[in-house]
Amino acid sequence: MSAGRPRTFFHCHPAEGDPGVLLDPDQQVTEPWGEPEHGPCDKCEGAGTAVYECFSCMEAGSEPDCPACQGRVRFEQTCPTCQGSGEIHRTRRRGIAVFPKREGLYRYLAWKSDADVEGKVVVELTGELSDDCDLDADHGALLIFPRELVSVEPLDAGSVRSITDRTGEEEEAGE
Ligand SMILES: [Zn+2]
Ligand SMILES: [Zn+2]
Repeated sequence: MSAGRPRTFFHCHPAEGDPGVLLDPDQQVTEPWGEPEHGPCDKCEGAGTAVYECFSCMEAGSEPDCPACQGRVRFEQTCPTCQGSGEIHRTRRRGIAVFPKREGLYRYLAWKSDADVEGKVVVELTGELSDDCDLDADHGALLIFPRELVSVEPLDAGSVRSITDRTGEEEEAGE
């Protein structure tokens, strides 16, 4: 850990919403966008492990003390969605989904085919890491219990689109 300024994390939030709700412990849970899906895991196809790619380090350069990948950037680890069982049982997770770098959040939104990036803000937060893991931890998403709002800035939808043009987005799941 570097001394001085505490580490901050980046979260995407609706512009019309009050980012202050992120500080409410009762609301510090994350659920998937759209319908919660239970059953066979579509992320690892039952293998129980997934290839992790830290979007923050891929976009902003790898960092040995990155809280998402510890500088590993690409590695294989227990699938975050089924937690190794091959079946999805639990989609509600403890904490707010964040990225350790703004660039990682942008890359994630570019990759996520159902992300709506209009009318959103990027909220920079401090907080404690949750011991739970985000459903998209394999892309370097973390869960934190936010403590303090550091800044709120408009999300630049044009930047997200240009990353999509450069890197492509996820394949549609299912058949
Ligand atoms: Zn990383
Ligand atoms: Zn899985």
